Amino acid sequence: MDRLTRLDVLVRGGTVVTAAESRQADVAVSGETIVAVEAGLPAEAAQRVIDASGMLVLPGVIDGHTHTRIASDAEPDRFFQDSVAAAFGGTTTFLAFNNPGTGLSEDAQRSLRGGVGEWLARTAGDSAVDYGLSAVITAQQEDAAADLAAALETGVATFKAFMVYDFGVDETALGRLLRRVAKAGGLLQVHCEDRAGLSAGISGELAAGRTAPRFHADSRPPSVEAAGTRRALALSAEAGAPLYVVHLSSAAALAAVREAKAAGQVIFAETCPHYLALDAARYDLPDVEAMRYVISPPLRERSNVDALWDGLADGSLDLVATDHVPDRLGVEKRYSGQSFDVISNGAPGIETLLSMVYSEGVSTGRITVERMVDLLATTPARLFGLRRKGAVEVGREADLVVFDTRAGRTIRARDLHHTSDYTPYEGWPVSGAVRHVLLRGREVIRNGLFVGLRGFGRYQERRL
Ligand code: MN
Ligand code: MN
Repeated sequence: MDRLTRLDVLVRGGTVVTAAESRQADVAVSGETIVAVEAGLPAEAAQRVIDASGMLVLPGVIDGHTHTRIASDAEPDRFFQDSVAAAFGGTTTFLAFNNPGTGLSEDAQRSLRGGVGEWLARTAGDSAVDYGLSAVITAQQEDAAADLAAALETGVATFKAFMVYDFGVDETALGRLLRRVAKAGGLLQVHCEDRAGLSAGISGELAAGRTAPRFHADSRPPSVEAAGTRRALALSAEAGAPLYVVHLSSAAALAAVREAKAAGQVIFAETCPHYLALDAARYDLPDVEAMRYVISPPLRERSNVDALWDGLADGSLDLVATDHVPDRLGVEKRYSGQSFDVISNGAPGIETLLSMVYSEGVSTGRITVERMVDLLATTPARLFGLRRKGAVEVGREADLVVFDTRAGRTIRARDLHHTSDYTPYEGWPVSGAVRHVLLRGREVIRNGLFVGLRGFGRYQERRL
């Protein structure tokens, strides 16, 4: 027991959950690393003992899809505060995109290299939890492919391209990018919607005078997402390059992914908590409320929710991430009757990922707790190149969540810590609560209170 003579932390008496099994065990931490996972470890050797009896000990959640805003002179705490919200929710690592709207300067948006450089500089020393960058590749950047090697050098291993929006790329460019990113050793994430179908959908609604928030959903139905997804899958097959489908929301798009996986294609697909809990009935609310759900893809009819849970359970979907956009109803998402196509897209979620997936998935019996750990930590760690994270295992970094399944609460915006001013889950009852969170062996949440430090979060240099 030499390795246990000087322990920094012992998490004692909990049920340790991995992607494969759950078992009673103590977790011993020395420095930043897990050094033992065994029953009956000696508490005397530990500087600090955390009582986890009756609770689950989970690996820290990895949120692979956020649009956190970076700090500015006007909002110096914007990035830090969302990282604190992540910690409260049990998320110890998040990846951010640096798309237009996240605070990057116009200048930095002109090249992939510039976008990466400025984002790294402006987030340095600012986060309470570990974080990384998935760099956005846009049509406006000059020869992004030429900058891939430099981006990979700085630990940016994943990239994102959009099939729609003014900064999206056309299909020829997308096919080429899939090949170039794979060749450089990265992975391309794609927002899949069919550009022509979407344009027709939006102009059709507007021409018919259907401009209210609820028509956002009609303007981009599942068929538009499915068509885009099928096209991206075909381009990935042609290129012989893997593809990562972000925020999959519908049974129709899921069917496309399922077929491609059955055909042996190397592809990955993510869905988000809002597609697993909410449905299109939200668009029947009064306009001032319906507009909160202007997100893309939109919320779908209820049958899709069940289909997505089946997809998570059977492995057709690989992980869940939030697509966190900290828009505020009073600022970015201010509504004054404008048509749906000019309402800022997105909704916050960085703090509610574990709560929603545990409560809606595990508590209801739709997925096992082991599958949840796989979806929220182990698979993201593997896909995103976070080798030392994602599991409660000897040798991994001690990113741990002590989760009390007996607790229950109701989600309220006023109790959350993110930089948005609402939550799409207002009034939603959830089972389970985050009690303690450790990041690389250091407590960041203790008894539900933040005890972390600005700047303790480390930028993750990722390699696939
Ligand atoms: Mn998107
Ligand atoms: Mn997104």
